[in-house]
Amino acid sequence: MSKTNYVLVVDTNKHPLSPCKPGVARSLLKAGKAAVFRRYPFTIILKKEVEGDILKSQIKIDPGSKTTGLALVQNGVVIWAAELQHRGQLIKQSLDNRRSLRRNRRNRKTRYRQPRFLNRVKSKPKGWLAPSLMHRVENVSTWVNKLIKFSAVDSVMMELVRFDTQKMTNPDVSGVQYQQGELTGYEVREYLLEKFDRTCVYCQAKNVPLEVEHIQPKSKGGSNRISNLTLACRPCNQSKGNQDIQDFLSGKPSLLKRILNQAKQPLKDGAAVNSTRWKLKESLELTGLPVFTGNGALTKYNRCRLGLPKTHWLDAASVGEIDNLVIATHQPLLIKSFGFGSRQMCRTDKYGFPTRHCSRQKVHFGFTTGDIVKADIPKGKYAGKYTARVTVRSTGSFAIKSLTHGKQIDVNHKYCKAIHKLDGYGYGFGELININPTKLNPVETQIVKGRTAANPTQLNLFDSSIFAVESSESKIHKKQKVKGDDYEQLSLF
Ligand SMILES: [Zn+2]
Repeated sequence: MSKTNYVLVVDTNKHPLSPCKPGVARSLLKAGKAAVFRRYPFTIILKKEVEGDILKSQIKIDPGSKTTGLALVQNGVVIWAAELQHRGQLIKQSLDNRRSLRRNRRNRKTRYRQPRFLNRVKSKPKGWLAPSLMHRVENVSTWVNKLIKFSAVDSVMMELVRFDTQKMTNPDVSGVQYQQGELTGYEVREYLLEKFDRTCVYCQAKNVPLEVEHIQPKSKGGSNRISNLTLACRPCNQSKGNQDIQDFLSGKPSLLKRILNQAKQPLKDGAAVNSTRWKLKESLELTGLPVFTGNGALTKYNRCRLGLPKTHWLDAASVGEIDNLVIATHQPLLIKSFGFGSRQMCRTDKYGFPTRHCSRQKVHFGFTTGDIVKADIPKGKYAGKYTARVTVRSTGSFAIKSLTHGKQIDVNHKYCKAIHKLDGYGYGFGELININPTKLNPVETQIVKGRTAANPTQLNLFDSSIFAVESSESKIHKKQKVKGDDYEQLSLF
């Protein structure tokens, strides 16, 4: 049985309520007790007022540079999930394009604006972020605000830093898991990955499973201190064996010198601190809800412990200190940021020559490009019903992409009915993920805990199965991306 996101519910005064199961929403709609309020995220509006205590949920966020995972968690149950794709790279690209066009025109002695010189990064106020980075912050807070509007939320939890250096040097800071050492292993590993740039120090291999390696072998008195640890791929690790690093790299003195130097230097504080995430935290605090934070190593520890596949939304659900998770949804909503288009009226070719004119008007016959419409074509070659994103034309003949015909078809505006007005985002649904319920059994967790408890002093650093580096996008996610490109695909629940 496939499980989809819960349906968000507001009462007749548009006060957010606790989300309900899709089946419940369906029967409410059928009985006429509710109406569809919003298509994305799917929200229904009840026809009566609701008073009294409402069960609240927590918004959990795993901020990423390209994709941010979002999850609504209610008493340990993940009821709603989404993956939000940013357009930071596109923003940078279009700013770069604009800059090069203007520069080009100046050289051609075309009348154009003078270059400005008072807009350098140095002259920006403190805390300024580049537009592409600021976009990520604003994108996430837009969605957090949306969720607060449509569902009862009492707090926000986000991943703030990759690892907690304080907890790593002081294993007895807090928590049983830290004292037992297993979680410390995760912190150490994340730290090393950051320090050595996710690369094998001996052969510079990237995107391969990396193992934690002792520079001075343990059998020869090497310690478990951070300054004695490095990362190596499996072949390098095995060929080094328990040799001393001086012998192993006797033919490569420059590499040896570099590794020893790098190992001694502690990671700069700045490396673990991401200014965008701090900015995001600041902007989330403006919602007035309490904002809790977790770190990346803890997220990964939770996800591995609960046997969950690596996806952005499950990462989001695993943020922070949690005991167990029940995954009540198996399919995230995919949200892709498109923006609201360009105001540029004179479009140019790639050399900066004006080639076409764009009208100032964006709304034609009540529709805008990007609206999601239901089209019912009564006659002709393409007669039938369609639901798709529309591209408007001033003539009134709009274009929609038909999945059944596999191509773009024309439809007159009078056959269209908007079901979701342009809001700057495109929507789709992610891959259904099969989560093995036995893995979520708390007994499993106890076994893991028991194993560490029996051997509390040993750092579980060298279990390559746990510590193999996952490439940034796992197979599951790749599949999802392919599917995610098709934002025309729509369904109700
Ligand atoms: Zn290697």
